[in-house]
Amino acid sequence: MKGTMTEYMNRENYVVSAIAAEGNIRAFAATTRGIVEEARARHDTSPVVTAALGRLMTGAAMMGVQMKEAAGKLTLTIKGDGPVQSLTVVADAEGDVKGYAAEPQAIAHSTNGKLNVKGVVGKGSLTVVKDIGLKEPYVGTCELVSGEIAEDLTYYYAVSEQTPTVMALGVLMNKDNTVRQAGGFMIQLMPGASDELAAELENIVLALPPITSMLDENEKPEEILEDILSHFGYEELEKKPVRFRCDCSRDKIALALAGLNKYDLLDLMVSQKEVEVKCDYCGNTYLFGREELKGLYKKFHRAGKDERKEENKTEENGEQ
Ligand SMILES: [Zn+2]
Repeated sequence: MKGTMTEYMNRENYVVSAIAAEGNIRAFAATTRGIVEEARARHDTSPVVTAALGRLMTGAAMMGVQMKEAAGKLTLTIKGDGPVQSLTVVADAEGDVKGYAAEPQAIAHSTNGKLNVKGVVGKGSLTVVKDIGLKEPYVGTCELVSGEIAEDLTYYYAVSEQTPTVMALGVLMNKDNTVRQAGGFMIQLMPGASDELAAELENIVLALPPITSMLDENEKPEEILEDILSHFGYEELEKKPVRFRCDCSRDKIALALAGLNKYDLLDLMVSQKEVEVKCDYCGNTYLFGREELKGLYKKFHRAGKDERKEENKTEENGEQ
């Protein structure tokens, strides 16, 4: 153990970005224990779902930081025929990450004592939606080639973005099923990279121990990247803090309720004294009383106002 406990706490949750080989290699590495543990605690996920969701969140955190546009936002969705059914993660360029699993308590039988991420995910597809503030977001979909997440993201980069990528993602659990380590790295070859460079890099990466072992040995993400890329002129660019953060709010949830079919909303109004709405991403709940629901109904669905409209105080006040 090289670092102290305080040092360990302080270095949680960041993505380091770097370049090497005169810009022909672009690299990222992340430590995300706090993010994955928060997701586990908020969603009460089983260990194998914690691992699957944690890997996807870690990959998304690096892909989010990679976006150059400050308002950039990324949604990764994995849909599979395994017990977890789906995983959804959103990350942005500012380092905010959130995510959830459709079946948080799903389990998958393991034959080797390791968490069977592939088994809990199954066969299916990965969809990447990149919103960089243009009119239409970029959407790329590919099949899952392994269900282990890192290989699937690598495959996505190869087929959808024509970017050769090596990626490692890992989550290591404590005996009490809390998260002990989480992190990963992503190394990409730019169009100018030679085949020799690619082969050399591949050999180095293949010889590495698992990412969580390195983190558990107290290696920092930047040290891991430097180890891998030391022959290629490693140059660290930035260290960006990342966190679990959901941007849900009462107003946003109210808008979603208002967006219900008017008869569903009416039905809720008459059948429930109050309605509890849970945010999928963070698990926070919001309570809406009957009066509030009536208010939403009046505002968005009263005669002649069938179309859902954005909040507009002037319009509301002027219409009685
Ligand atoms: Zn939320």
